[in-house]
Amino acid sequence: MKTKDVVIIGGGITGLSTAYYLARAGVKNIAVLEKRYLGSGSTGRCGTGIRQQFTTREHIILMRESVKLWLEWENNLPYPIHFRQGGYLWLLSSQSELVQYKNYVRLQNLLGVDSRIITPEEVKEIVPDIDTSNIVGASWCPSDGNAYPFDTIFALSIAIKSYGVEVNTFEEVKDVVIEQNRIERVITDKEQYATHFVVNAAGFGAVKIGKMVNVSLPLTLYRHQIAVSEPVSSFLDPMVVKGELYFTQTYRGRIIGGTDLHEKPTNNTHSTLSFLEQYANEILDVMPLLSSLNIMRQWAGFYVVSPDHHPILGPTSVPGFIVGTGFSGHGFMLGPVVGKLLASYIVHGNMFLPEANNLTIERFKKGKLIEEKAVIG
Ligand SMILES: Cc1cc2nc3c(=O)[nH]c(=O)nc-3n(C[C@H](O)[C@H](O)[C@H](O)COP(=O)(O)OP(=O)(O)OC[C@H]3O[C@@H](n4cnc5c(N)ncnc54)[C@H](O)[C@@H]3O)c2cc1C
Repeated sequence: MKTKDVVIIGGGITGLSTAYYLARAGVKNIAVLEKRYLGSGSTGRCGTGIRQQFTTREHIILMRESVKLWLEWENNLPYPIHFRQGGYLWLLSSQSELVQYKNYVRLQNLLGVDSRIITPEEVKEIVPDIDTSNIVGASWCPSDGNAYPFDTIFALSIAIKSYGVEVNTFEEVKDVVIEQNRIERVITDKEQYATHFVVNAAGFGAVKIGKMVNVSLPLTLYRHQIAVSEPVSSFLDPMVVKGELYFTQTYRGRIIGGTDLHEKPTNNTHSTLSFLEQYANEILDVMPLLSSLNIMRQWAGFYVVSPDHHPILGPTSVPGFIVGTGFSGHGFMLGPVVGKLLASYIVHGNMFLPEANNLTIERFKKGKLIEEKAVIG
């Protein structure tokens, strides 16, 4: 049996970011346990997007802080993560949508985010190839952007290993043992770990891990599909969003994007032709010039969704059992700040942003749900 100060379950961005901030705070006797390879969950399947254009105080403040940390990661991690502030260009189709987004922008500005409403002519100045005939304007935030998921995972894993953190892949957590309402042990298919702190960053596996200690997490899994094209010369900096559709160009030149088929909850991550058909129709409506582009790959992953589309963060009824999950389609971008918040809870007993305290599991018991309206894809 090994003894660890903290055991982190899940080798996606949430688990690795938490390990990174714990190690930087001096807590280095940690094991990160990942049942497959690092990034094999939703993180390695995501659309790369990083935005602050949200509709609640909680999300806007957490993302404002996360963007600052993305910049730090780009400068300080031992491998490039290709963080780029190319902006998010959110195309608006009707006057009612325009009014709605003006209100969102007002809140974002009040909280220090540099978003603004722009005209179709200004949209053309930012991305000349967008067909603006069907839009009335856009919500634009130049400091939003994207980063490359596997490079981020790789950079974080190198950083935490250099601090002495143990990262064990292809090792599945089978049980978490509590005695007298205290975490005592984590049992995997290979090893046992004596510990009093467990971070449940298991993404699609978080509900199962919660059940091991009788913590019920109100989460539902939805399949989301995504595709990348062949690479072409760089011409598109922002993430373009219209309704459920989103797409951008990666630093390797590929157009990456997806849309929502509004499927029922499922455990299935197969990808489908009907997704490609819908995605192609929607993207060509916005940018007809992409019609000659070949799709190279498509895949699917899970949105792990809470009832109010906000994450579940921090302490639970079991002392030492910390959660970071339920991110819908925005857990990659929240990764830096969530890792820092969870590490802060373990080291100092509090999450340093007051808004994060509104996002604990307690809110479901108290009926204090905070609905996020800007969910993409
Ligand atoms: C198609 C798609 C597009 C998306 N686009 C974006 C986007 O543009 N921007 C954005 O911010 N977010 C996006 N998301 C959401 C984002 O990917 C997730 O919210 C985020 O990656 C969650 O990270 P995580 O570390 O919490 O979970 P994960 O990355 O899922 O990591 C959890 C890990 O836990 C492991 N695990 C599970 N059970 C066990 C166990 N018993 N023992 C050991 N390990 C276990 C899993 O194998 C997995 O690797 C997208 C998601 C999808 C599917």
